[in-house]
Amino acid sequence: MAVYVVGHKNPDTDSVAAAISVADLMSKKGVEAKPAAQGALNPESAFVLEKFGVAAPEIVTDATDKKIILVDHSDLAQSLDNLAAGEIIGIYDHHKLGDVTTPNPLDILVKPVGCSCTVVKMMYDCAKIEISKPMAGIMMCAILSDTVMFKSPTCTPDDKAAVEALAKIAGVSDFMSLGVEMFKVKSAVGGTPAKDLVFRDYKDFNMGGKKIGIGQLEVVDLSILEPVKAALLEECKKVKAEGRHSVFLLLTDIMKEGSEMLIVSDDPSYVAKAFGVEVKGDSVWLDGVLSRKKQVVPPFEKAFA
Ligand code: MG
Ligand code: MG
Ligand code: MG
Repeated sequence: MAVYVVGHKNPDTDSVAAAISVADLMSKKGVEAKPAAQGALNPESAFVLEKFGVAAPEIVTDATDKKIILVDHSDLAQSLDNLAAGEIIGIYDHHKLGDVTTPNPLDILVKPVGCSCTVVKMMYDCAKIEISKPMAGIMMCAILSDTVMFKSPTCTPDDKAAVEALAKIAGVSDFMSLGVEMFKVKSAVGGTPAKDLVFRDYKDFNMGGKKIGIGQLEVVDLSILEPVKAALLEECKKVKAEGRHSVFLLLTDIMKEGSEMLIVSDDPSYVAKAFGVEVKGDSVWLDGVLSRKKQVVPPFEKAFA
């Protein structure tokens, strides 16, 4: 029975590239493994796979009767449906440990680095298995994406070293300009329904018993989002109305290095409590905030605790 390797819901480039590369590594170790994604590829991931000639993973949303390896998450709220009806045999991630539990021992490697693909690179190296050119290309792009081209506070020297090594294997001499090209693809929001934009990079969290949704759109210039901001706020209101305490949408300007956060909440004072900012109306500018994982989730978890 093949093992399915899958990243989080609303897959990003790391979830997709880590699923594909871990499945590749498992296969080379003689374990039948298939990459999967919990939904359609976003434009950035589609660009990256196309660039390196890699096929899109199968879409899988239910774990029932499957052997599963989780990448890029270990939170139930972000994982496959009916996870308990499947068997988790591995977790390879770079987030805080989530609330997934298993009845059996499992293989697990979670490192405080900027990207799951940096962890996967370590796994290939540890197994002394060669990384192919296409795998190197997509893993490199995932690291550039997750670390916002090394600008995110989540970025570590391991991530930079991994990108440099993978770029050599992939035959990419100027990886920073490929990174810019990738972020331009990510920034193109014209013609995309507001609902799709809210869910493009969206995660639900359980914070102090409250369901909290946090989405993020990373663009090269916030002015790109100006025409759709009102529609985004309306969509956030709909998402909140589905039974959430709050929905926050980070509009991240990767050049200015900060985020405007749209706020839809039963109690917006949590934002003031979490970030020490004054909140007027339905949005606030958070200077220097690029990372949901490192700069947004922890202060909210503390505030909601
Ligand atoms: Mg991710
Ligand atoms: Mg990641
Ligand atoms: Mg990200």
